[in-house]
Amino acid sequence: MNIIFLGPPGAGKGTQAQRICAALNIPQISTGDILRRAIKEQTPTGLKAKSYIDAGGLVPDDVIIDIVKERLQQDDCKNGYILDGFPRTVPQAEALDTFAKMDAVIELDVADEKLVERISGRRVCLKCGATYHVSLLNGETKCAVCGEELIQRADDQPETVLNRLKVYHAQTAPLVDFYGAKGLVKKVDGDVPMDDVFASIMAALGAQA
Ligand code: ADP
Ligand code: ADP
Ligand code: ZN
Repeated sequence: MNIIFLGPPGAGKGTQAQRICAALNIPQISTGDILRRAIKEQTPTGLKAKSYIDAGGLVPDDVIIDIVKERLQQDDCKNGYILDGFPRTVPQAEALDTFAKMDAVIELDVADEKLVERISGRRVCLKCGATYHVSLLNGETKCAVCGEELIQRADDQPETVLNRLKVYHAQTAPLVDFYGAKGLVKKVDGDVPMDDVFASIMAALGAQA
């Protein structure tokens, strides 16, 4: 199954994509993770993307479309995948239509007020992409999955977060209608405990845990 996870920053896309991908044995394709790794490795793409990400804006469509197109050609995508953080604009969605066919779009719904609290407490592992919240870490500073030191993302500062929410509503939210018109959208309440969100997504996909 080819699945898109749609939702504002902090809605739980990464958290749930990681779990659903493990359950369905398909890869998680997180454009945010790919870009953060590129920045860390100082690749040409990373150098180009950094200023946009730091400002809480979007990386230009052509840059990100090329990355995803190439990634979907790899062998591990044959049996499906979850796109986490792509598409984020209508032109990205239109481009995606030309090289892949989607089966479902999961819209994770969380109110803006909750998102700021979630994002300001987020800690991430740049090595494996695992995501945590500081309130649940009990002072632990290393990734439970791979042992890497956890970090706070530079774009998770409050001022940048507000800009990212604006960008979401202006540029990404229209995708709910874009995919709604194709009958693909399944809306899931993201403001309940993580295990419950997981169960709702599995049910929406018609998948067995
Ligand atoms: P979040 O999980 O908080 O929604 P991501 O990790 O998905 O954030 O993305 C972080 C940043 O990377 C975005 O704010 C944006 O600058 C850039 N980015 C990621 N995916 C895309 C995309 N599809 N198009 C443009 N920019 C992107
Ligand atoms: P996104 O990828 O949509 O930006 P994340 O998966 O990174 O969102 O989650 C953002 C923050 O919220 C993280 O700190 C994560 O631990 C936390 N979080 C995720 N899902 C839930 C939930 N259902 N309830 C409370 N906190 C959550
Ligand atoms: Zn890790």
